[in-house]
Amino acid sequence: MLAERATILTPSLTLSIDSKAKAMKAEGIDVCGFGAGEPDFDTPEHIKVAAQAAIEQGFTKYTASSGIPELRQAVADKFKVDNGVDYKSTQIVVSNGAKHSCYNAILATVQPGDEVVIPSPYWLSYPEMVRLAGGEPVFVQTKEENGWKMTPDEFQDAMTPRTKMVIMNSPNNPTGAVYTREELEAIVEVAAGEDILILSDEIYEKLIYDDAKHVSIASLSKEAYDLTITVNGFSKSYAMTGWRLGYLGAPEGIAKAVDAIQSHSTSNPCSFAQKGALAALKGDQTPVEDMRAEFDLRRNYMVQRLATIDRVSVVAPKGAFYVLANISRLGLSSPNFADRMLSKHHVAVVPGVAFGNDGTVRLSYATSLDIIKKGLDRFEEFCRTL
Ligand code: PMP
Repeated sequence: MLAERATILTPSLTLSIDSKAKAMKAEGIDVCGFGAGEPDFDTPEHIKVAAQAAIEQGFTKYTASSGIPELRQAVADKFKVDNGVDYKSTQIVVSNGAKHSCYNAILATVQPGDEVVIPSPYWLSYPEMVRLAGGEPVFVQTKEENGWKMTPDEFQDAMTPRTKMVIMNSPNNPTGAVYTREELEAIVEVAAGEDILILSDEIYEKLIYDDAKHVSIASLSKEAYDLTITVNGFSKSYAMTGWRLGYLGAPEGIAKAVDAIQSHSTSNPCSFAQKGALAALKGDQTPVEDMRAEFDLRRNYMVQRLATIDRVSVVAPKGAFYVLANISRLGLSSPNFADRMLSKHHVAVVPGVAFGNDGTVRLSYATSLDIIKKGLDRFEEFCRTL
């Protein structure tokens, strides 16, 4: 009955832990949740006000499929100012979240039989999107000692004549890794040698710590620009996950193809949400920095605590809001670890196998410092018993 493409998808491994945690909470159990993939802050007020005003003014109808012109222009301006990338507004497509932008980009470029290189651990939707497009994900296992970053040699080794694209995600979910300019230049050199497209998912751009700097791949050179599709969005920087707004910038031909796909599948993203997004880009950026600073405090605390736990190791994340803890020396598979941690110690973590690495678990620090402290006490206690 089902189409083959629907049967090849891996059921979400995170879901069972998540529903169990929710059920426990509903029973009144005090669960410390480290599973969150979204900021625990509210959307800044001026953004909400702009969307409310848009509704009041009747801005509630279809818009251009790729987004309202003033938002596409504001995104183009943002790319120029923040990222040093020159896109015209016609090279921008606004979609229903960065997830949608990634999927559109993959549908527009990946053909059945094409291979797509994905550094692992990876955000769990990439391989499924590639499969839905008929492509084949090719995973590159990155190493903890390299800060979970793919080296140019590892990339080169994964290439075959069928390689069409590489997916880069810096800052990274789940590792928090941030590639330096030099590291990205080396990746681009490998990609450019074979005309491999680069999907650069920069959704965590604004959540960056210590001396790390975010570098947009498309800004590196003309070659890089021509091969790169840059994805970004509002969910993480502006705490707007429920608004469903993301965007991409790409060479003209790719942007046009993405627009065509979107025009026949979802049409425009929500009209009044786009007005909120416009306010996010044009308005006060202080809330972004406030959130980043708060995440940074929690990150420091979490990393310090995890680093003191026997047989657990962490690479201090330089971006996003996750810490990937290496639990491979504790002798449990990651789902088993996560399951026991939840049932016995009431702490929800995401098993790393969901991101392609069974020796790890992911802890999100998008939750209060109090919960982080309590949860890590329990985490430590559990590890001691193993
Ligand atoms: N890319 C990465 C790496 C993510 O972690 C997420 C959200 N979990 C997304 C894209 C999608 O974000 P959005 O809400 O804009 O669809």
